[in-house]
Amino acid sequence: MRYSVSGTPLAFVALFLATNLLFGCTPHWSKRPWSEAFVFESPHYSVRTDTSPEVARHAAETMEKALAGYCRILNCPEALPPLRVNAYATGREYEAVARNLGLGRGTSGLYSPQPPAAIHLPWRRTAGVAPEATLRHEGVHQLLDRAFTFAVPESVKDSLPPGKHRLTGVPLWLNEGLASYMEGALESGDGLTADTANLPRLKHLQNLIGNQNCPPLREVVSRQYGEPFTAAHYAVAWGLVYSLRHASDPADHQSRHQRLSRYLEASRNAFFIAPETEFPPSFLPNGHPVADFQHQWHQRLGHKSLAAFERLIAGPEFSLEQWEQDWRQRILKLPVGP
Ligand SMILES: [Zn+2]
Repeated sequence: MRYSVSGTPLAFVALFLATNLLFGCTPHWSKRPWSEAFVFESPHYSVRTDTSPEVARHAAETMEKALAGYCRILNCPEALPPLRVNAYATGREYEAVARNLGLGRGTSGLYSPQPPAAIHLPWRRTAGVAPEATLRHEGVHQLLDRAFTFAVPESVKDSLPPGKHRLTGVPLWLNEGLASYMEGALESGDGLTADTANLPRLKHLQNLIGNQNCPPLREVVSRQYGEPFTAAHYAVAWGLVYSLRHASDPADHQSRHQRLSRYLEASRNAFFIAPETEFPPSFLPNGHPVADFQHQWHQRLGHKSLAAFERLIAGPEFSLEQWEQDWRQRILKLPVGP
């Protein structure tokens, strides 16, 4: 899976094997050139595919339901830009696209912000992962990139290339945590319910905690774009989002939702309180962008992500370490069976 920031693609490979899914037969579609791909337009999504009109429609409907689920967590803007999905009939076609975008083999799908920004995926199970799950995962990356970026202050726009007028403010752990959370969601009615835990992620996380191999929360939350994000990091990121969305005690449940909302809001502002005065000294000293702008941006985001977690989610009642202890106990108590 791939996510990239401000036009410079970065590849993060999330090899997540859903061991409890059965491999289905790969359908054989009649060959047709991509220029004659079927297109289905739903209110927010435009799906292109060389498989069949039914797949085009099904993928768009899947994404509309996913979007309703995303927007229950995220405070979605009223007007969204068009969201594109390209679903390929063969793995070979997908691999060629992935290669062109600089990504290696073995991924089940990707979102690329390179214009025209789109999700790309083969329409088949990949390593046991259903295409719908890949769509729900990549759809989060797409929505966050298309609608939740931080707009730099108007006063500095002339000093920056257009590709840097909107920057990623949502940190890596939250981007992947929300994506992993939504990939395991189930369709219900016209939306999604993520009440059921993503069981492969949960089992993995419980094993990591039980075997004392779980990466510290501090390490995961401060991870920067461009740094390796391992399967264990994904499991923790999923578990953090799950834990902030679910608690059996109603007051605790509400408090957790509010904390996640506050954190999301802060991340939409890239954790700036007053961007007009805070942004220029760090990124435009002497009126020109710093030479390693992208690296500096990601570094700052990693630091701020951790500080905000300590302040808005764990605090003021608990230290990060106390909160983490409680979180681990909660994860271990979650049932892994029906
Ligand atoms: Zn991802």
